[in-house]
Amino acid sequence: MNSASAMTPSPPPVSSERDDSCAVLKFGGTSLATPERIRSAARIVRDEFLRLGAAGAERPKVAVVVSAMGGDTDRLISLVREVSATHDIREFDAVATTGEVVSAALLAVALQDLGQPARSWSGWQLPIHTTPVHGAARIQEIDTREIRRRMEQGEVAVIAGYQGVETARNRMTTLGRGGSDTTAVALAVALSAAHCDIYTDVDGVYTADPRLVPRARLLRELSYVEMLELAALGSRVLQGRAAELAAKNRVRLRVRSSFGDGAGTLLVAETQAMEQPLVRGLAYSVSEARVTVSGLPNRPGVARAVFAVLDDADVNIDLIVQTAIERSEVVDITFTLSRGDRERAHAALRDLPAEFAYERISWDERVAKISVVGIGMRSHSGVARKLFDALAEGGINIEAISTSEIRISVLVAEDNLEEALRLAHTAYGLDGDATNDPTFPPSNDGDGDGDGNSDGDDDNGGGAVGGEGDDNDSDGVARQNKQQGKRRDKKHRQGRGA
Ligand code: ADP
Ligand code: ASP
Ligand code: MG
Repeated sequence: MNSASAMTPSPPPVSSERDDSCAVLKFGGTSLATPERIRSAARIVRDEFLRLGAAGAERPKVAVVVSAMGGDTDRLISLVREVSATHDIREFDAVATTGEVVSAALLAVALQDLGQPARSWSGWQLPIHTTPVHGAARIQEIDTREIRRRMEQGEVAVIAGYQGVETARNRMTTLGRGGSDTTAVALAVALSAAHCDIYTDVDGVYTADPRLVPRARLLRELSYVEMLELAALGSRVLQGRAAELAAKNRVRLRVRSSFGDGAGTLLVAETQAMEQPLVRGLAYSVSEARVTVSGLPNRPGVARAVFAVLDDADVNIDLIVQTAIERSEVVDITFTLSRGDRERAHAALRDLPAEFAYERISWDERVAKISVVGIGMRSHSGVARKLFDALAEGGINIEAISTSEIRISVLVAEDNLEEALRLAHTAYGLDGDATNDPTFPPSNDGDGDGDGNSDGDDDNGGGAVGGEGDDNDSDGVARQNKQQGKRRDKKHRQGRGA
């Protein structure tokens, strides 16, 4: 079995260990939303196959990872919920995996139509072994023996993303929303692929979500560390775990458009020049809620008590603010957590010891977290101040703050999200020229957004990423039009594409 040593932290493969004749390509939901889009993806795959051959590969090997056709995962998830609100999570996964099974087979058919031998593979067929955590499983190992053998013979392997199998119980699992990115990166590691191209519906990674920030600029290059941070802070353009895996293994990863032929964004190791710009880019997340526990006794141990019960219930906390009026008997503790953790958090807080009884809990979901990211922050002061100035001038209230070496996050009312992002983008000098290029977003006949409910079970709601260093890309400007606004609102509220 060929382990996805992907999953081990070190040592990263050096380029000489990469198989130059092997590439992994991944197509997201919008890029496969209609039969025409599927045929167009097939042409990209076939061209990559020919390109590897022309570049000297005796036996080009191409593996493709697919998402479900745009909107399908949302539809499948709502189906399960409609049938039963208290559904079995294992059957939920069995339903959710079918979206990718369909698109993989359709892409194989489209490839065969082009005269390119191809075969589709579900997660259990390879298999892709995962942990048993349904809905958020992690890849442990990928058995690549059979696809390797067939790829050696010129057959393209089309693999259903976002899924695997939990071997102990022989049940299908899913990796969490956006998980096909992780399947692709893990496969690239397992195959020692020369590169991994993530084909999506924007030209690459921008300084901020181009659907919310019309002046966002395309980044030609972005350091692994910054991509990792931006993805973790909500950028949907690459799933956080995919960014993590790519960084650990130094996967030569490119994010690019399936609608055009630009070079996209390449992830690279950090260089000194990258420290020059203060801020690389912005991310946001609308997947968190703010909770305030008010009227707690103001005495040592209160924070420990509150966060211990939450931790025991596996509730992850993000931003924290503790406020007490001087010499007051009571204190308020405010924090943010994932919206999906509401019930568990409430139940956990009911377990607080009687000595830490509180007066009330308030819950607010109309909040957004905005984060500013850049490795250049390490060596500069006054970075946070710029953000506070910009928001203050825009009359936007900050409800909580947290910082790390290379990031600042603030919580604002969700209604202020776009305005705050644009103000911050301008304040950090990230703006490019907005144009009215009617080709943006790329023609989107299939509407990859999906009309189903967003599932709310985990991860991202946000967008993100990082700024340009010394070689600004003037043709990478984000473009705006009316259509963009419409798509943006829908996609941004739903937080995902397939
Ligand atoms: P796919 O279906 O191809 O996986 P996603 O919808 O998951 O596509 O991710 C692509 C979307 O990510 C874009 O349409 C864009 O709205 C959003 N996004 C958020 N932040 C960024 C960013 N910094 N750069 C580019 N796209 C971003
Ligand atoms: N189809 C899954 C989703 O919509 C996985 C993916 O697209 O990456 O989240
Ligand atoms: Mg995605």
